[in-house]
Amino acid sequence: MSLDLETAAKERGIKYFLVSYTDLFGTQRAKLVPAAAIASTCRSGAGFAGFATWLDMSPADSDLLAIPDAGALIQLPWRPEVGWLPADLVMDERPVEQAPRNLLKRLIAEAADLGLQMKTGVECEFFLITADGAEPADMSDRQMKPCYDQSALMRRYDVISEICDAMLALGWNPYQNDHEDANGQFEMNWDYADALVTADRHAFFKYMTRSIAEKHGLRATFMPKPFADLTGSGCHAHVSLWREGRNVFADPSDATGLSRVGYHFIGGLIHSADALAAITNPCVNSYKRINAPRTNSGATWAPNTVTYSGNNRTHMIRIPGPGRFEFRLADGAVNPYLLQAAILAAGLDGIRNHRDPGPRLDINMYTDGHTVEGLKRLPLNMLDALRALSGSAILGEALGPFVQSYLKLKNEEWNAYCQHLTQWERDTTLDC
Ligand code: ADP
Ligand code: MG
Ligand code: MG
Ligand code: MG
Ligand code: MG
Repeated sequence: MSLDLETAAKERGIKYFLVSYTDLFGTQRAKLVPAAAIASTCRSGAGFAGFATWLDMSPADSDLLAIPDAGALIQLPWRPEVGWLPADLVMDERPVEQAPRNLLKRLIAEAADLGLQMKTGVECEFFLITADGAEPADMSDRQMKPCYDQSALMRRYDVISEICDAMLALGWNPYQNDHEDANGQFEMNWDYADALVTADRHAFFKYMTRSIAEKHGLRATFMPKPFADLTGSGCHAHVSLWREGRNVFADPSDATGLSRVGYHFIGGLIHSADALAAITNPCVNSYKRINAPRTNSGATWAPNTVTYSGNNRTHMIRIPGPGRFEFRLADGAVNPYLLQAAILAAGLDGIRNHRDPGPRLDINMYTDGHTVEGLKRLPLNMLDALRALSGSAILGEALGPFVQSYLKLKNEEWNAYCQHLTQWERDTTLDC
């Protein structure tokens, strides 16, 4: 334990700790532990029944123990008497291999064995909607091209500034906030960091944004495509890879400033893209964001094809500047830990196997994609993606037993979805 939590509690006025873990579907589960009991919780863990959450477990399993990572403590800025502690899962004295945070830590350790450290920044787009979820909360937010709309942004100043103030206080170095491309949609940006730090912040950001929105009588949603005719919520990840403090993706002699290693890493993502989608685009609804028809604003800003480009936002991967790339596939529903783990797994495979990402494409994919033959398309639905993951020896090996657990739960979800009749089916089939 890198930090004595009892002492920290006294010094910072923390009365309770939220000992929290993120399950396979990204839901955060927690126990609220009084400060007086935190030392023993750190030793023995907080107990959970794993089957009661989205983990591949049985009601007959022994206690699932969540051991807090004291060094990752985040004091809730909107309720400072509570400290949030991401936890690692242990069962029968062994780390739970399917647990997303454990999985990410294992992959980070594998990269470290190669002398490598991945640093990432995420862009978590979200909507502020009415409490019943029916529509964007701001009735005046009606522009066809609402991106960066100053007035709509400032009508939400109270919420946005409270979240940004919180990030400032937490030392995340937030640097900009804006209204995004859909009515009611926002994005808040903070600095990149080590993959695990970013994953914890990503998880906390979602919790914080929902909580602060709720305080203001609003509802925040990260749902990938809450409104069919509006741009969906992506979760772009910017990635660089470091060795002994040097960015090994940087190469000033390359046209876009990316090194060989960088291209191989991208090659790994491109090679496994359809299987990755099962993780980065984890819901039925995710596939309404990618492969979507043009939105009211003029573009979906989401990829349809497994392609990469320079500074061009119509591809799955963009190289916006030297020494990093942007992976634009993932959406708001992505599990923060699995996002980083999946990128790292596919990227390391790319490096190990010198995967060639193929030629860079500079066309506007939305208007001219059809002019290039043989482009690989992204999965059209969750089932295609799950089948691709199931067939991926690369991710199967890199992600280990997690994959079978995840596929089991996600296939059950797909089956549950298939039991629903939609209005569209009735409209198109009643008179068949
Ligand atoms: P855009 O909207 O143009 O895609 P944003 O400014 O919204 O970009 O987000 C960029 C993200 O990329 C931020 O989190 C930023 O800190 C991160 N980033 C910048 N440089 C690097 C880098 N070298 N490695 C990883 N992430 C980076
Ligand atoms: Mg009990
Ligand atoms: Mg952005
Ligand atoms: Mg954005
Ligand atoms: Mg982006």
